[in-house]
Amino acid sequence: MSEHTTTVAGVAVDTRHWIGGERVASAETFTDVSPIDGGVLGEIARGTAAEAAAAVAAARAAFPAWAATPREERARVLHAIADGVERRLEELAVVETADNGALLRSHRRGVMPRVAHNFRFFADWLTRLGHEDFDTRGHTNHVSWDPAGPCVLITPWNAPLMLATWKVAPALAAGNTVVLKPAEWSPLTASLLADIAAEAGLPAGVLNVVQGYGSEIGDALTSHPDVRRISFTGSVPTAQRISSSAAANLTPLSLELGGKSPLLVFADADLDLAVDLAVEQYDNAGQVCLAATRILVEETVAEEFTRRFVERAARLKQGDPRDEATDIGPNIHPRQLEKIDGFVQRAIAAGARAVIGGKRLEGQYYAPTLLTDVAQDSEVVQEEVFGPVLTLQTFGDEAEAVRLANDTRFGLAATVATGDAARAGRVSGQLVAGTVWVNCFFVRDLQAPFGGSRHSGVGREGGTWSFDFYCDLKNTVTSPKGWKDHG
Ligand code: NAD
Repeated sequence: MSEHTTTVAGVAVDTRHWIGGERVASAETFTDVSPIDGGVLGEIARGTAAEAAAAVAAARAAFPAWAATPREERARVLHAIADGVERRLEELAVVETADNGALLRSHRRGVMPRVAHNFRFFADWLTRLGHEDFDTRGHTNHVSWDPAGPCVLITPWNAPLMLATWKVAPALAAGNTVVLKPAEWSPLTASLLADIAAEAGLPAGVLNVVQGYGSEIGDALTSHPDVRRISFTGSVPTAQRISSSAAANLTPLSLELGGKSPLLVFADADLDLAVDLAVEQYDNAGQVCLAATRILVEETVAEEFTRRFVERAARLKQGDPRDEATDIGPNIHPRQLEKIDGFVQRAIAAGARAVIGGKRLEGQYYAPTLLTDVAQDSEVVQEEVFGPVLTLQTFGDEAEAVRLANDTRFGLAATVATGDAARAGRVSGQLVAGTVWVNCFFVRDLQAPFGGSRHSGVGREGGTWSFDFYCDLKNTVTSPKGWKDHG
C-alpha cells in the first residue's frame, strides 16, 4: 500500500487528486477527521491553483473525443459506472459514514443505490433526449443539445457522493468533461468514484477530481476561461463568491443553495402524519438543505400537535451512525456544532423556549431541538441553522400561513399537511419554492425540475433541465430551397 493510500473502515482510499487519468500528489495535505469519534481518516492532497489548472487542462484535452463519442457509447459507460457503484456499494456506504457521520443504514439502503441510479437515469434520458422537428414556412427547425465543454462541479459535505453524482452523471452524459471538487470535510467517496469510473472504461481526463479548501483552490477553478459550466451546491456566501469569480468569463452557473423551508400544518390535516413529517426533519442531524425547519401550525391544533411531536421525538435514538438502530448521528464538525449552538443560545436569550433539546450533548452531537416563542423576524426563523433545530410558530388562517411561509429570503422547498385537496392546490400555488410536497416529504424523482427560488438558488436541474444546463442548445433551420440534385 502506498504512502498515498489510507484505509477507512477496511477500504483503501487514494488520498491524491485524480487528474488526466493519473493520481497526482500535492506539496501539502489537509487532515480529514471522522465526525463519529474525531479519529483521523487520512492526510488528503491539498490542491492549489496549479492542480486546478492541470485538471481543467486535462478536461479540455479530453473533451473533443468524449463529445464526439456516440450517445449510446456514453450511455454504456455510465451504466458501467453504475455497475461499479453497485458492486462497491458496501465500501462506499461505510466510507461515507466514517467521513460525514450520516447513517450507515441510509447510505446502504437509500443513498448509494440512488448514486447508481443517478448514472443509469441520465444515461437512459440521454438516449431519449430530443425535440420534435417543426416547420416555419416550409423550413425545418431541428433542436440539438451540443456538449458545452469542461464543467467544474463543486459539492458540499452533507450528502457528498449523492450530490456529486447528481451533477457528474448528467454532465458526462451530455458529452462534457468534468472537474469535481468535493468538500474538504468529506472528500473520500469522490476518490473512490474516480477509481470506479476508470474501471468502467471512462477515458482519461473525462472525469477529474481535485481536493482542497474552497478558499485555496476555488477561485482558480471558477475563474478559469476554459470552463464552460459551473454547477455548485453549497452555501449562499460561497455562491456569491463563485458568481463574481465566474463573471469575468460569463461562465453559466447552476446554484443549489440553502433553505429555511416551512412545514404548514392545517387543522384539517392527519395530525399523526404531520407529526411524522415534522420529526423527519431531524434526519441527517438536520443537515439537509431541503429540511422544513420552520413548523407553522394552525392555532386550534398547535397544543395537540406539540404534545404528539414531543412524544414522537422522544423515541428517536441518537448515537453511532454505524448502528442500524440509530436515527440521528453526529454533526459534521466541531465548528458546525458551535454554529448550531450559537443560533440556539441567541434565540433563547431573545425569549425563545426550548420545548425539547436546546443544548450540546457529549461528543459531536446536538440534542434535537424545538423552539417556540420565536419572532418572525428573529435570526433563528430567518437564517439556515443546518442542524437538528426546528422552530414552531402558529397561524390563524390560510392567508397568514402563506404569508409566514414566504417571509424569508429563501425558497427551496415547502411541505403542506392538509386533508383538504382544494386547500392544498390553493396554498401550493401561492408558495415560493422550487419543490412543494403535500402530505409527504423528500419524494424526489430525477425527471423533476430541482432547484430553489430567491437565495435558494439559480436555475433548475433534473431530467431535460439538466441537459439544458450542461449543453449548448442549438436550433438548425433548413430551407427547402437550394439543394443540388446529386442523383
Ligand atoms: P460551503 O458553501 O461552505 O461549501 C460547499 C463547497 O464549496 C465545498 O466544496 C467548498 O470547499 C467549496 N468552496 C468554498 N469556498 C469556495 C470558493 N471560494 N470557490 C469555490 N468553491 C468554494 O457549503 P457547505 O457548508 O459545504 O454545505 C452546506 C450548505 O449547502 C448549506 O447551506 C446547504 O443548505 C447547502 N446545500 C444545498 C443543497 C441544494 O440542493 N440546494 C443540497 C445540499 C446542501
